[in-house]
Amino acid sequence: MSLADDRGEAQLIPKIRARAPVPVAAVVLSPGGEQARITGPADASEQMTVRLIGRRQDVAAGHPRSQRFDRQLRAFGEQGQATLARLAVGVAGAGGLGSHVIQQLVHLGIGRIMVVDPDRVTPSNLSRLVGASRLDATLRRPKTSVARRLSRRVGGPSRITGLRKSVTDEEPARRLLDCDLIIGCTDNQWSYQYYVPVFDLGVELQAAGAMGGRVTWLAPGSACLWCLKILDPQRVRAEQLPRQVAEEEASRGYIQSLDEPAPAVVSINGAIASIAVTEFVARTTDFAGSAARASQLMYRLSDGVVRRTFARPGQACPT
Ligand SMILES: [Zn+2]
Repeated sequence: MSLADDRGEAQLIPKIRARAPVPVAAVVLSPGGEQARITGPADASEQMTVRLIGRRQDVAAGHPRSQRFDRQLRAFGEQGQATLARLAVGVAGAGGLGSHVIQQLVHLGIGRIMVVDPDRVTPSNLSRLVGASRLDATLRRPKTSVARRLSRRVGGPSRITGLRKSVTDEEPARRLLDCDLIIGCTDNQWSYQYYVPVFDLGVELQAAGAMGGRVTWLAPGSACLWCLKILDPQRVRAEQLPRQVAEEEASRGYIQSLDEPAPAVVSINGAIASIAVTEFVARTTDFAGSAARASQLMYRLSDGVVRRTFARPGQACPT
């Protein structure tokens, strides 16, 4: 195991122990071979023997080259496409950002897509909700239904399920744990809280001079939204207040009202969604090379540039 593995474990093990006093086992699988070790209560590590019970199957082998995916097969290769077909991706939020993301995941042929959104379509959504119609707004159809219909119309191999609940509820949270990756497209500052990698998307059109958006990679060992100074402590506090208290404080001007809609533009949502989906494909298929990926991609309208940042977790980060 490498120095990076040692460092990662040194941070992770105390956190696991804080929850339960258990031995912690770790396995590294790499093209060069397999290694495993177990760390006991007194921090003593012992090597473990790894016995392989089978080799990875090459799912793409033997299948005729798919016409549907011909053009992207030329970019990702058979193996890359097979990887996408095996993945389960959770999308938290099927609104202005999420609908773009879902549409692209369906076109890519992602195996399973799980969409979580409690909201129904309103007339004000029609300026940016991909796949939604005026009739959806009139009938107040759930946004998850719009996403499922869009997937049906494209007619690819993706299996899409919708859950009309908030991501902060227990059931969707449990279902999202079954996904390989979650793409966070909600307005509220819902953050990484599971050991499942998350791409967290955000658009900012209020701060003059800082208009644009970001795609943030959140996974065990990466910098969190606090370390990256993305979370606004005032706003997080406001979101956790009981509704009545929040309204009272907002009316006195102590906090910004949570009901005030933020500005949103379809093209900027689309740009951020596309950056996120491209980064997701790059990380899962290696089609863009295997160099270290940035922890955050920032798009600024003022200079038309996407910047990368490679942030490390803060020393005293409680997350
Ligand atoms: Zn942190």
